Amino acid sequence: MKRLPFIAGNWKMNKTVEESLDLVRGLKVSLQGIEDVEVAIAPPFTALYPVSQELKGSSIHLASQNLFWEEKGAFTGEISPMMLKEIHCQYAIIGHSERRQYFGETDETVNRRIKAALRYDLKVIFCIGETLNEREEGKTFSVIERQVEGGLKGLGEKEARDIVIAYEPVWAIGTGKTATPQQAQEAHRFIRQKIERLYSGGISEGIRIQYGGSVTPENSKGLMNQEDIDGALVGGASLNAESFSRIVRFKEI
Ligand code: PEP
Repeated sequence: MKRLPFIAGNWKMNKTVEESLDLVRGLKVSLQGIEDVEVAIAPPFTALYPVSQELKGSSIHLASQNLFWEEKGAFTGEISPMMLKEIHCQYAIIGHSERRQYFGETDETVNRRIKAALRYDLKVIFCIGETLNEREEGKTFSVIERQVEGGLKGLGEKEARDIVIAYEPVWAIGTGKTATPQQAQEAHRFIRQKIERLYSGGISEGIRIQYGGSVTPENSKGLMNQEDIDGALVGGASLNAESFSRIVRFKEI
């Protein structure tokens, strides 16, 4: 099955509003005419609304980097799916390893956030991946399996259609140490097979699995050429219009 490649940029805690608008304007120019790749960007919360205005009429999608599972109430510092929907977010990144590592995110809280996003019609980029220790101890597949089962718990086929999985080995994020295309393909295949065991109805063939971890214009093509790699979640290289658009244009390399 042919899956539409999907490249998303996670800006993390970078860019003021002005800087975000500059970057979006640059991307609108450098990504003009791109139709065979879906593109999304995830600016910091403060820039989401102004960026959504700047993206009007563009095919670039808007994503949040997180959300909380309640609609409203006494949850100081949190942002609800309803609020994100109101400002035209189409995607939410959930379960990023930095959230798991620094902010106590667990498989259970990831699952609650995914369910809340889907309730509000936000599609989800669901992040999973093993740490270096886990890989060295031979636990890569068991960790990935636990994360997939935990994050997708209670979700039916209809909901699974709105999920994109991002496989991001933690040791490759922001380190300049990319997984080889073969290492990434092996993990992606395993994830797809796991999805096949969990869902019928062609979900496993249709679900897109992005690779994340030090993706650059130089290594993107080799990764994207792998059978089960359907896109990339890009951190550092998404902060610059030229490098991000070169990744999006991987087919032209
Ligand atoms: C990420 O933030 O999801 C990521 C993969 O970061 P980087 O590309 O900088 O490794």
